[in-house]
Amino acid sequence: MTLAKSPIAEIIAVGDEMTSGQRLDTNSQWLAQQLNDLGIEVAFHSTVGDDLNRQTDVIRTATERANIVVMTGGLGPTKDDLTRQAIADAAGVELDLDEDALRHIESIFARHKRVMSPANRQQAQFPRGGKTIHNEEGTAPGVDFPKGSSRVFAMPGVPYEMKLMWQAHVAPEIVAMSGSKKIIRHHVLRCFGVGESEAESRMPDLIARDREPRVGITASMAVISFRITATADSEEECQKQIESTIAYIRETLGEVVFGENEDQLNRVAANLLGQRGLSVSFIDFQFGSAAASKLRSGITSGNEHVFLGCFANDSQTPEQWLDAGEINDACAIEKSAVKVARLTGSSVGVAIGKLQRDADDESVGSFKVVIAILEGNRSFEKTFRYAGHSSMRQERSANQVVNFLRLTLLGLS
Ligand code: ATP
Ligand code: MG
Repeated sequence: MTLAKSPIAEIIAVGDEMTSGQRLDTNSQWLAQQLNDLGIEVAFHSTVGDDLNRQTDVIRTATERANIVVMTGGLGPTKDDLTRQAIADAAGVELDLDEDALRHIESIFARHKRVMSPANRQQAQFPRGGKTIHNEEGTAPGVDFPKGSSRVFAMPGVPYEMKLMWQAHVAPEIVAMSGSKKIIRHHVLRCFGVGESEAESRMPDLIARDREPRVGITASMAVISFRITATADSEEECQKQIESTIAYIRETLGEVVFGENEDQLNRVAANLLGQRGLSVSFIDFQFGSAAASKLRSGITSGNEHVFLGCFANDSQTPEQWLDAGEINDACAIEKSAVKVARLTGSSVGVAIGKLQRDADDESVGSFKVVIAILEGNRSFEKTFRYAGHSSMRQERSANQVVNFLRLTLLGLS
C-alpha cells in the first residue's frame, strides 16, 4: 500500500482515564510530533472511552477521513480493552486467534513464571485481514490493519511500550508506505528577550507551512525555541537547509539567540563566566536567591568556581546594607554590587534592587539590576518589568537577570 501525495493522519487515544480527565493524554502529543517529523500532517486527534460502540464509531470516522490512523490503548487483557474488537467491528470482520501471538504471550508468562489467565488469550485475537505487531516489552501485540484507503495501527497505551513499538515497527512502515527515502534532521535555536509575536512579525515567512525546512515556535517562561525540521535526500542537503535557516534567524534576532538544541540560558551564562575567567556573587533585595539559584543550577562540573554566593537580603534596603547613612542614594544598587563582589572575592557583583510597585497594581512593578565588573571599574544597569501572569513572574525575573548577565559578559572584550 502506498500513500496519497499529501497523506493525513488521525490519532486516537483510547481509555476512560483520558475522557474522564484522570490522566493527560501524553501519547497523542508524542505521536503527533513523531508523525510531523515524518512529514505527515496530523489533521485530527480523537479521544474515546472504553466503550465498544463509541470506539467503533470513532475508528470508522477516522478511516474515512485519514490515510493513517494511529491508536494507543485498550489492547490489554481486561474486559475494558476493546480496541481489537472495535477495529474488527468497524471493518465488519471477525476476530481470529493468532497462534504466533498466543505462543509469544505464553512464552512471556512462562519466562516470568506466572500463570496465564484465560483473559490473556483474548490478546491473541486479531481482526481478520490484519497483521500483528510484535511487542518487545509487554504482552499485548499491536495491530496493523488496512481499511479501504486507510491503514490503522493500534499500539498499547503504556507509554514506553508504545514508543518502542512505534520506533521498531510503525514509523518504518509509514516511511516505507510514503515510498520516500528522505531523511529528517532537527535543530533547535533558543532565544530570550523577544516575544513570540514579535519574532513572527520580524520573520513572517519563517513559520509558513510550506517552507523548507519547516520551523515551529514554542515558548516557555519567556524562552522561545525555534524548532527547525529539514527533510531531504541526504544528510548534507538537510544540513545545508538547517544552516541557512539558522543564519537567517541569527541575523534577524542577534544576541537574543542564546543557544542551540539542549542549551539552557543559565548554563550558557555560567559557561561564559568560566570562559572569561570570572566569578560572580549576588546581593538580592527582592527575590530571595531566585536569580542566583537559577545561575547556580546551570553550573557544570569543573566550573564551580564561577559562583561565589548570594546574600538574600529582604529586610534591608541597599542604603541600609551599605551603612552609608545616605537616604535614597541614587547609586546604592551599584555600590551594593561592588560591595558584594569585594566581600566574596568575586570579580563580578550582581545587585538586584527592590521592586518599585506600580501605583495602580501593587502586584507588579519594575526592578533595577546592576552588574559591576571590578576590573576596570565598569558597571551596567538595566530596569526590568516584573509583570505578566503571576505563575510566571518569579521564574521570568530570574531568567531576566541571568540573561542580562549573559549579555553583559558577551559585551566584554
Ligand atoms: P496493557 O496491556 O498494559 O493494559 P493497554 O493497551 O490496554 O495496555 P491501557 O490499559 O489503555 O493500555 O493503558 C495502560 C496504561 O498506560 C494506563 O493506565 C496509563 O497509565 C497509560 N496510558 C494509556 N493511554 C495513555 C495516553 N494516551 N497517554 C498517556 N498514558 C497513557
Ligand atoms: Mg489495559
